[in-house]
Amino acid sequence: MGTPEQHGSAEQRAEDEHADEQRTDESVRVESPSAFAGEDDGMDRLWTPHRMVYIQGEGKPEDPDDGEQCPFCAGPATSDEDALIVHRGSLAFVILNLFPYNSGHLMVCPYRHVADYTDLTEDEVVEVAELTRTAMRVVREVSRPDGFNLGMNQGEAGGAGIAAHLHQHVVPRWIGDANFLPIVGRTKALPILLADTRAQYAAAWPGGAGEGESA
Ligand SMILES: [Zn+2]
Repeated sequence: MGTPEQHGSAEQRAEDEHADEQRTDESVRVESPSAFAGEDDGMDRLWTPHRMVYIQGEGKPEDPDDGEQCPFCAGPATSDEDALIVHRGSLAFVILNLFPYNSGHLMVCPYRHVADYTDLTEDEVVEVAELTRTAMRVVREVSRPDGFNLGMNQGEAGGAGIAAHLHQHVVPRWIGDANFLPIVGRTKALPILLADTRAQYAAAWPGGAGEGESA
């Protein structure tokens, strides 16, 4: 694609390069590899310090055994909107991740404050599995991803952000989503995006507000 006009003049290219410089702000900084010691591998580094808030533990329970500090225990006690809950089952619920790896990142959690997959009852295992499958169907219908990552991180060594309360991640993936734009895209206007996403998924959930008789 591209006619000769669209390739632009030297001035236009200079402006474009200037726009690239201006894209940097306090939440996302692109650092030139030439500013660092070592071999220049030709790759830009994206620094996303907002992620550090999570890594440093904001919202994580100080005492992992104290259910009162646990966001997965506290969530179901508040409204769906405040807790970003998409669906409440009988033994487990589906909630949007406040710190998404990707847009539409859902988690399926048992209501019980249990850490380990082997601690779940048979009924909880079945419901977590069924909610995971329904979550995939709902996300497919609403967000049209190309694929998913599913799974549980067990224990802090396994990468669990909140290790004390088991949660199954359902992360929609799009071809090319690991590159620049999605990483930048989740730095701003996140609360509005999450509220919209929650409402869309809740409405698309079988038996949810989007089905049956309208209220
Ligand atoms: Zn909990």
